[in-house]
Amino acid sequence: MTNILKQQVQGSVLISGDEGYETQRKIWNAAVDKWPGIIVVCKEEADAVCAVRYAREHNLEISIKGGGHHVAGTAVTEGGIMIDLSELTEVVVDENSRIARVQGGATLADIDRETQRYGLATPTGTVSETGVAGLALNGGLGYLRAKYGLTCDNIQAVNLVTADGDHIRVSDTEHPDLFWAIRGGGGNFGVVTSFEFQLHEIGPEVLALDVMYDFEDVKTVFHNLNTYLEAASDEISVNATLIDLPPAPFIPEFLHHRRVIIVAGIYAGSPEEGEPIIQPLRELAQPLADMTAVMPYVELQKKLDAMVPQNANIAGTSLYLEELTEEALDQIVAQMNGAPAPAMVQLWETHGHMNRIPTNENAYYVRGGQYLLLVDVIYEDGQDQKAKEWIDEMRQSLLVYSYEQTSYLNLTENDESIIRESYGSNYARLVAIKQKYDPNNIFHVNHNIDPKSDCELVTE
Ligand SMILES: Cc1cc2nc3c(=O)[nH]c(=O)nc-3n(C[C@H](O)[C@H](O)[C@H](O)COP(=O)(O)OP(=O)(O)OC[C@H]3O[C@@H](n4cnc5c(N)ncnc54)[C@H](O)[C@@H]3O)c2cc1C
Repeated sequence: MTNILKQQVQGSVLISGDEGYETQRKIWNAAVDKWPGIIVVCKEEADAVCAVRYAREHNLEISIKGGGHHVAGTAVTEGGIMIDLSELTEVVVDENSRIARVQGGATLADIDRETQRYGLATPTGTVSETGVAGLALNGGLGYLRAKYGLTCDNIQAVNLVTADGDHIRVSDTEHPDLFWAIRGGGGNFGVVTSFEFQLHEIGPEVLALDVMYDFEDVKTVFHNLNTYLEAASDEISVNATLIDLPPAPFIPEFLHHRRVIIVAGIYAGSPEEGEPIIQPLRELAQPLADMTAVMPYVELQKKLDAMVPQNANIAGTSLYLEELTEEALDQIVAQMNGAPAPAMVQLWETHGHMNRIPTNENAYYVRGGQYLLLVDVIYEDGQDQKAKEWIDEMRQSLLVYSYEQTSYLNLTENDESIIRESYGSNYARLVAIKQKYDPNNIFHVNHNIDPKSDCELVTE
């Protein structure tokens, strides 16, 4: 049955038992164990066109794999066709226009490597192995968010295969409605074979904040951090991680199994100017360790890679917080103490440029709140029910402190009501655009915007 497809595409067409099938079907979250009927590993962007048309003709469910990093495992379909872009990784930089053309399977490392040759960067995320496609289409929060916004805010154009199997360019002058929707609307509108991202001057050396505090000082650390953030400049973005350190060889023995707060971030300006400005962040309490240093931007972007669990079962959720009050912090700590397995809680402060963009500028709605709370738990086989229950309990107990009950869909389970809340007043417009471009919802293996959703379009 796949012979026709094999003749059409330059890449590989794999079915169960073929060499490479096992590797390609695997994604970052080991808890997701699905078996696509066919995997099309694209070698050229046009392969994605053939795959979409083939799927339509044979009525096959479609999933799209960029870097395969979504915790919810939406890159994989059970029995359908997986359009795998992970080998389309070319990045071409136009130094004059400050635009990077990036193929749909590139990782953040692929982008930083090429753009930094010119002392340029586009805002992405904080782990270099992550795929840019999923990250950019659903937001994209990294160390440059306060200065230059989210990854989706820096998309200038995309090439996309529509539900009809057409390969079109989408920008603010070509299909502007779709251009609005893909900047936050995830994989709902088609297969993005390439992006054009706006670049900005960064580095090559940056001042990277990295201070470890004892968990006993959690209240003092966040009290002082909140005070600091009241007047923080756009050059600074800070992520705080609450974690029980593993007994890993790269961690000094006295810190093994110790619960700590790691305050990491960037000063995205001249390192010399930044030193005194970030000094208070190095004194939020008495530090256990301070690895703050000037380093190449590409190194900062890879710094967390070693901490990322591999081949692990993960459950995760997220919630934007209106304000990190003492009460909210107490609740987070209490929940963390009840975790059924090793858990990591992150609090990423959000201020600056990303929050000044109007909520309806593009589909990414959340432009307020003080912190993004991210929660992950790593669990053993057979513990999934317990892990999910804990995640759900954590989320429910913190909803009262949330910013309009919104979550970051790139780091959240796949849940209809969470999706709806997180798009806020942009949801109805997304539904209308989905009805126009994908009325039969062929792109539904994602955090789905159902074209049949019942909602009223509010016209501005
Ligand atoms: C270790 C780790 C670190 C992370 N760090 C950050 C971070 O610092 N900042 C941040 O913002 N997020 C972060 N994330 C979350 C990340 O943004 C999401 O996991 C995102 O989905 C990753 O994109 P991907 O292409 O790898 O995902 P995939 O799992 O391949 O895809 C997820 C979904 O995106 C859509 N999609 C993917 N590729 C395409 C395409 N080419 N065309 C159309 N739709 C597509 C599909 O709907 C797919 O189901 C992290 C995740 C992990 C696991």
